[in-house]
Amino acid sequence: MSDLTLDPPIRTSAKGSIKHSDLKPLRQSPHIASDRVPFTENTGLEAHSSNDAADKPQQKLWMPKQVLITPAALEEDYGQALYENLTKLGLPIKVMPSNRITGINQKDVKKTYKTAKTTLAIVKAPPGAFKLRPIPPSADWQFHLAEGCPGHCQYCYLAGSLSGPPIVRVFANLEAILKNTAKFETAGSVSSFEASCYTDPLSIEHLTGGLAKTIEHFGKRSNAHLRWVTKYDNVEPLLNLAHAGNTRCRISLNVDTVARKLEGGTASIAQRLQALRRLALPKAQGGGAYPVGVVLAPIMQLPDWREQYTAFFDELSQTMNFDCDLTFELITHRFTPGSKDILLQWYPATKLDLDETLRSEKRNKFGGKKYVFKKDLMKEMKSFFYSQIERRFPKAEILYWT
Ligand code: SF4
Repeated sequence: MSDLTLDPPIRTSAKGSIKHSDLKPLRQSPHIASDRVPFTENTGLEAHSSNDAADKPQQKLWMPKQVLITPAALEEDYGQALYENLTKLGLPIKVMPSNRITGINQKDVKKTYKTAKTTLAIVKAPPGAFKLRPIPPSADWQFHLAEGCPGHCQYCYLAGSLSGPPIVRVFANLEAILKNTAKFETAGSVSSFEASCYTDPLSIEHLTGGLAKTIEHFGKRSNAHLRWVTKYDNVEPLLNLAHAGNTRCRISLNVDTVARKLEGGTASIAQRLQALRRLALPKAQGGGAYPVGVVLAPIMQLPDWREQYTAFFDELSQTMNFDCDLTFELITHRFTPGSKDILLQWYPATKLDLDETLRSEKRNKFGGKKYVFKKDLMKEMKSFFYSQIERRFPKAEILYWT
């Protein structure tokens, strides 16, 4: 699971959003301590009553202020269908004179961020997008329906992954992208494909329908599984799809204070919990009967992390109080020098801990640096989270801790 953050963090305004009930899904036409004290006192990240989250209105759906489409994207059936559907929604659409998206960069970094985060671009994925790369430990392969996300998470990993202004780019050659995944399947075993590395696919689903088409595509594959993750809650259009159990829908969760302070524009934790429940419930109870997952990320070393995460697990247990296929992925907060630089431009007043002196430095195989929690804290937290999950969800599988 990024733009130039404003201070305070930008949230999607009522003006720039619409209710789900105002939209039809577009499927009928072609669519992420303790003694180290990273959070000091008065950080604003102290625990809030869980009732606060429940009081929030339902998450509004993001609507871009402008849609830019390239000539090459218009040559694709899906691109043409997007053009027609977005026009019907009354969105201002501009056909670009060439296959490049221009006019986003401005002199002021905040203005560039704001313009980018309100722009939806429809483009054709380049040939390089068809050479899939592994994405351990999440899946065998990653592929992309889109790049970018309308959310404003102050730790967003996209800040270090994607270059340029943080617009949302939807790929018009979806059919070819899906067809291409078959080339990476392994005969005799099930291959997994992750669709959320560079976007939050549910954040734009009401505009594109691309996730639904992807779920249905994998529903017809006998040895390929789809995985995707979101911080949004608009799951209704996905509940009746023919997924054949081949898609694992994961919801990115955290303690309520982290979501409130650092995850602007996303659904509240209460809303995401309900989305997780709906996705997992049996069809007979109005659910989607999907295999589901909790991506607990980024795990933060709040001063009272034990208490806050214990309360979180209490709520999760109450929400998922029925038999279902549930997995956990546990990801501690980390950052790189590059992502810190960009995030501080976007969110200059962030309360996010980005102090290298409180972290351990790790190197990847290419020599790149990242800053993670210190070893003792990692060990303590891992033991805590495993214990909570194993006690409360004995049938659930913990896929990894990182
Ligand atoms: Fe980044 Fe937040 Fe969007 Fe995920 S939901 S891609 S963390 S902005």
